[in-house]
Parts: sequence; C-alpha cells; structure tokens
Amino acid sequence: MTIWSMKRRHDADRNAAEYVSGELSGRVRRWFERHLLDCEDCWREVLLGRFGKRVAEDAREAVPVGLRDRVRAAIMLCSD
Ligand SMILES: [Zn+2]
Repeated sequence: MTIWSMKRRHDADRNAAEYVSGELSGRVRRWFERHLLDCEDCWREVLLGRFGKRVAEDAREAVPVGLRDRVRAAIMLCSD
C-alpha cells in the first residue's frame, strides 16, 4: 500500500470504472494505462470491471497493445 501512495493521484475504483466505460479523456487515459502497469490496485479493478469474475477468452483482443501480456498473465493466475 505504501508503494502505491507514492505514485500519482489515483482512485482505483473511480479511475478503473471510468477507464472501462471509456469516460477518460485521451491524456488521462494514456496516463492511466501507463499507471496500470505499475499499480496492482487499479489493474485489478480494470480487470474486474472489464471482464468480471470470469475472464472472457475473446475479451483479450479488446485490451490495448502492451496490456495484453498482463491480461494473459492475469488469466493464467485466475484460472485454476
Ligand atoms: Zn492506481
């Protein structure tokens, strides 16, 4: 938790919800996508918001390039 608090302002719940629903404007969205790679809180919220509890197989294609590997890793972690 202390690690995340050192990063730029973020609100995992709100940012992720807005990102998933496409409400973030270009600049903020770009920042957030970058932020996602370092912030597990936001990343998890986006995954949950985007895919729900079960990760749809074809949903991976909707994920921005670069996030795909993270999604793939998350899928492997989630499926058992
Ligand atoms: Zn975050």
